[in-house]
Amino acid sequence: MGRVIGVGLVAALAATLAGCRTTATDGPGLSVVVGFYPLQFVAEQVGGDRVHVTDLAQPGAEPHDLELRPSQLARIAGASLVLYLHGLQPVVDEAVQVTDAKAMDVAALTPLRNAPAAIGPDDPRAERDSGTKDPHVWLDPTRLATIAEAVTQRLIALDPDGADEYRQREAELSATLTDLDGEYAAGLSACARHDIVVSHAAFGYLADRYGLRQIPITGLSPDAEPTPAHLAAAADEARRVGATTIFFEALVSPAVAQSVAGAIGARVAVLDPIEGLQPDASGDDYVSLMRSNLATLRDALGCAA
Ligand SMILES: [Zn+2]
Repeated sequence: MGRVIGVGLVAALAATLAGCRTTATDGPGLSVVVGFYPLQFVAEQVGGDRVHVTDLAQPGAEPHDLELRPSQLARIAGASLVLYLHGLQPVVDEAVQVTDAKAMDVAALTPLRNAPAAIGPDDPRAERDSGTKDPHVWLDPTRLATIAEAVTQRLIALDPDGADEYRQREAELSATLTDLDGEYAAGLSACARHDIVVSHAAFGYLADRYGLRQIPITGLSPDAEPTPAHLAAAADEARRVGATTIFFEALVSPAVAQSVAGAIGARVAVLDPIEGLQPDASGDDYVSLMRSNLATLRDALGCAA
């Protein structure tokens, strides 16, 4: 009896060890591994039932700080396609270099804007950020559509039998993103204010697209600790532009935004950078979160109905 259990355990262990690799390559459809949620959204929308998508970031976790477990490295190595955005998650950038993963960097598909310097007097972080590119391209729906087109071409190359289905699904996604872009353009066309004071500098592409100006309290990294001088400078600037709302994001502490809001008598509200879904985000997706962000912006900026 003991011997039988022992053999079973060995077999189970062997299966578990092999499983990292086999589950990534076997099963229905192409195995697509993505670095974070918006790329999951694109892969699932375009791929449908023909792909199996694994997100390396966990729901509720801030994806910039991702660390990879050995099982995730094995999954990357075994995937048919890895979608990542160079500059957002350093460990993923590194992992795709050291494995022979079939990786696609979506940051290469669209010209990137320079990283904004966080507001503040002679802040060394502003210097450090100045050579960096801003990775938050997905918050401009037209740029996400460009990414979706390229992902579609790659899926067709990997799975030519699915070409018609991928093209059909991509056309539907593209129409949705065009609608969303139109809703933003119309919804933000007649507003009393155009400055958005945000805790994390994730909204540069959105601001560029719709004629807003982003004032970031911290830089590109959402959990950087601003200095008191930095917070004071942000509060001065928020007061100067007449901001009524300071935005923070759902996956990071609101303390920084609250501090600036408290200093100028503004309120705080959530503006979601859509880097990851909340753990309880049943029913939410990229499009619903973008619509919710639009409603929040229109309210805060005093936009005409
Ligand atoms: Zn970010």
